Order: sequence, then C-alpha cells, then structure tokens
Amino acid sequence: MHPEEKSWVVDYCVSQSKAGTDHEADYRALTKDGDYVWIRDVVHVIRNAQGEVESLVGFMFDISERKKTEENLITLQKKLEEFSFKDSLTGVANRRMFDSIMEVEWVNARRNNQPLSLIMLDIDYFKQYNDEYGHIQGDECLKRVGRVLSLSASRARDFFARFGGEEFVLVLPETDELSAKKIAERCRNLIFKEQIPHEKSQISHVLTISLGVGTITPSHKDEAISFIEMVDKRLYQAKQKGRNCIITGS
Ligand code: GH3
Ligand code: MG
Ligand code: MG
Repeated sequence: MHPEEKSWVVDYCVSQSKAGTDHEADYRALTKDGDYVWIRDVVHVIRNAQGEVESLVGFMFDISERKKTEENLITLQKKLEEFSFKDSLTGVANRRMFDSIMEVEWVNARRNNQPLSLIMLDIDYFKQYNDEYGHIQGDECLKRVGRVLSLSASRARDFFARFGGEEFVLVLPETDELSAKKIAERCRNLIFKEQIPHEKSQISHVLTISLGVGTITPSHKDEAISFIEMVDKRLYQAKQKGRNCIITGS
C-alpha cells in the first residue's frame, strides 16, 4: 500500500471487519514493477446461520482509469472556474468578475467612508475598424488594448475588466476625482502611444478611446447601479462631444 494511504486504510478496514460491516476503500497498491495502481477494495462479510461472522470476501478492482478521469475532471473544473471570471479573448477579467468586484468595493467604500472611482471607456469607431481590417485583426486590436490598459492603474486593488464588446472598465478604490481623471488621461495616452492605425476613423488616423469618469463616496441612499449608469452616461457624452476625450463630474 502506498504510505500515504496505508495507515488510515488499514485502521478503517480492520475496524470495519471486526465490527462485521461490509465496506470498501480506495488506495494505491504496489505492483511487481514498483509502480502503483489505484484499486478499490470491496469487502463483504459472510455470516453463518447463527448470524456470526464466518469469513470476509474481498474484491479488488483496478480503478486507475477512473482516477485519471477524476483528476482530469478536477483540472477541467479549475479551468472552468478560471474561465468563468476571465474574458476568453483578451485574458483580462470579464463582466461577471467586474460585477463581483464592484459589489465588494462598493460596500468597502461605504463602510470606510472612502471615495470610489470608476472609469468606463469605449473604442472610437470600432465598427469601422472591423470593416476596414477584418474581424480577426479587430480581435487582435482588442487584445492589445486590453494588454495596454491593464497597466494603466497600479495599486493592488485597482481592477480592470472587459465590460463587453469594445468597452472596458476600471474600478479604483480609495481614489478621488482628480486621481481618477489622471488615470483616465493615462489610459487615453497609452492608447495614443500605441499608434494603432485606424484609417477609417473619422477623427484620427490612429485608434482612440472615449472615457467617462465618476467618483462617489457611497452613502446608504446610493446604489451602485445608478453610479455605473451615471459613468456610462458620461462616456456617452464623450462620444457626443466628438470622441477621443474624457468626461468627468467637474
Ligand atoms: P463609437 O465610436 O460610437 O463607439 O462607434 P463604434 O463603431 O465603436 O461602436 P458600435 O457600438 O457601433 O460598434 C462596436 C463594434 O465593436 C461592433 C462590433 O462588431 C465590434 N465588436 C464587439 N466585440 C467584438 C469582438 O469581440 N471582436 C471584434 N473584432 N469586434 C467586436
Ligand atoms: Mg465604440
Ligand atoms: Mg461600444
């Protein structure tokens, strides 16, 4: 028996056998080649006419394949958990993760009476980008934007996610209006510095983004959803104002 299982398996099987109870145990057994195989040991108690334990009959099944399947399933499960919070295209956090983080940070900010900032941004004329360069390059562009913008904020709890489509979001705990505005400007500059060609953009020859910024120290009257909507409206205003710009509260 493999040393890791040996003591509990022996204790368990001996005590069950003594008690006259049917039982089974999974453990690794040593083969003649020095390898281990997973086996399932199934033990039945045989009683005589008086009901006394007469003998034990055991069966051993090789369950190596089943164990392998189980291990694969566990690995898959872990991957699934990871995927469920990660955007599969860009590798940054996804919308679901944003919802969870926002909920936590909202409560934190309210409890500690701290400002919470949110930046929502959207690529300008991205439909035209896809039309001009194709969907595959559009995807590559989104990956690049995700990669670049994930470096825009550096504090441990700063959080960046893909909100959906060509829209991204930054959650900035304990960050006031002025600092949030600076980070928004950094985002715009980071994208500008990439100089990603966008010949069909109506405002520039390179890819640009529009941003909405908001800051709140939430009270019990406030709701996260209304705050998000307000920031989204500012992003919309940035689009209306001509794009490639930032709209803040002040
Ligand atoms: P605006 O400046 O007003 O934001 O214009 P826009 O063209 O960027 O906005 P619109 O919302 O009309 O188009 C967004 C485009 O983004 C359309 C859609 O095909 C594209 N898009 C969304 N998700 C993906 C994606 O995963 N990959 C690619 N390649 N394109 C995407
Ligand atoms: Mg857009
Ligand atoms: Mg959009």
